[in-house]
Amino acid sequence: MKKIAVFPGSFDPITRGHESIILRAATLFDEIIIAIGKNAEKKHFFPLEDRMRWIEKVFEEYPNITVTNYKGLTVDFCQKVNARFILRGLRTSADFEFERSISQINKKIIPEIETIFLLTTPEYTALNSSIVRDIIFHGGDPGQFVPEAVRDDIR
Ligand code: ADP
Repeated sequence: MKKIAVFPGSFDPITRGHESIILRAATLFDEIIIAIGKNAEKKHFFPLEDRMRWIEKVFEEYPNITVTNYKGLTVDFCQKVNARFILRGLRTSADFEFERSISQINKKIIPEIETIFLLTTPEYTALNSSIVRDIIFHGGDPGQFVPEAVRDDIR
């Protein structure tokens, strides 16, 4: 059976932190599906189309890394695409506390789906999409925080 992992998130926008987690996980799974959750209550800075296009560009040379979007529960989406794994990144203990409850509830709903956590590498611990959005909003240069392939486009 193919090992398929779903990496859910907003990716608003994708950062080097996300990129690093995905590339490291690509050696562990046969396929990674980056899945942008469409949450009606959550306001986004960048349109879904842009967020998807940037991710496609970053991983265009990796046929086993794809991007899509979904509505509803992440575990339901995983079942739909036959993924047995959910991938998440951990930066801090706050991330851990947040992720732990989601992961434990997801496991209650569908016990066959395992959430796999990768610890961020130290250089990306302080990085998150909201910092990147702030920099862009205030006219700064987000270059060193976003993947090279999308640096100019995002700016
Ligand atoms: P969400 O809306 O779920 O917070 P994000 O797009 O912010 O979505 O994050 C998706 C996943 O990427 C989460 O598991 C998050 O912990 C992880 N992540 C975000 N930034 C980093 C980073 N700098 N290093 C490692 N993992 C990260």
